Amino acid sequence: MPEGHTIHRYARQMNLSLGGQKLAVTSPQGRFEGGASLVDGHRLDTVEPLGKHLFFWFNMTARSKAASRKAVHVHLGMYGRFTTQKSAEGDVPDPRGQVRMRLLGHDRVVDLNGPTACDVMDVEAVDTLRERIGPDLLTPDCDRARIHRRILGSRAAIGTLLMDQSVVSGIGNIYRAECLYRIRIDPRTPGNALDDETLEKLLDDATALMKIGVQYGPIRTVEPDVFGKKRWNQLKGDERFWLYKRKTCRGCGGEVEVIEQAGRTVYLCPREQAFLGIGSGC
Ligand SMILES: [Zn+2]
Repeated sequence: MPEGHTIHRYARQMNLSLGGQKLAVTSPQGRFEGGASLVDGHRLDTVEPLGKHLFFWFNMTARSKAASRKAVHVHLGMYGRFTTQKSAEGDVPDPRGQVRMRLLGHDRVVDLNGPTACDVMDVEAVDTLRERIGPDLLTPDCDRARIHRRILGSRAAIGTLLMDQSVVSGIGNIYRAECLYRIRIDPRTPGNALDDETLEKLLDDATALMKIGVQYGPIRTVEPDVFGKKRWNQLKGDERFWLYKRKTCRGCGGEVEVIEQAGRTVYLCPREQAFLGIGSGC
């Protein structure tokens, strides 16, 4: 499952390669034929990331002159992915596999395979969906106060809350485990046992790490100064993490404990991460 930084990365790349262009939109596989025909030939204004969702905003003004916008909404789910290829005039590569949506611009073609959702929405439908999606730490107008209200008012475990995309969006399994380790909080600690300051520290850390992810691609939760920049760039596998999928904790060398939360495996260091008690029980 791609984490939020991957979605922001995709948006950034596609804004550069397709933004501002009138696109040929098709569905080589056929399952998105109806939707594709609605936006085909229109200008792509921007690609907007929100948590694990992407909105491709098309300007539909052409005929009526009245400004209107429609978005192709995409959720990649577990298996979805985008592929970008070069395409010169008259030389467009054949679709590979089941391509749900193909976006063809001046000199790039972007194919979408295997998404959970790919549908056309009007502005109202996007707004409705937006209310269900928790604030995205990587967007400049992220509503941190809303995240604080949801987490500090909940008896659910912080590890579970961080993965609840209606509470805060974009954090996946790796960032969850690593950020909780980095601020030394046990993932089983109830949300309402945290205070504002600790939660802010956690959100700041998750934001900083995901920004590094947007810039470089692969998730690395160990800072460059631990290894030196050159070596850091080449880190592979579990070298990149403090404890995710590791046998031993990079911090203390002790054994990493493995538990289940929200149906996913969580890694924690029982020596260094503190359980903050049972909370205020509201
Ligand atoms: Zn440790």
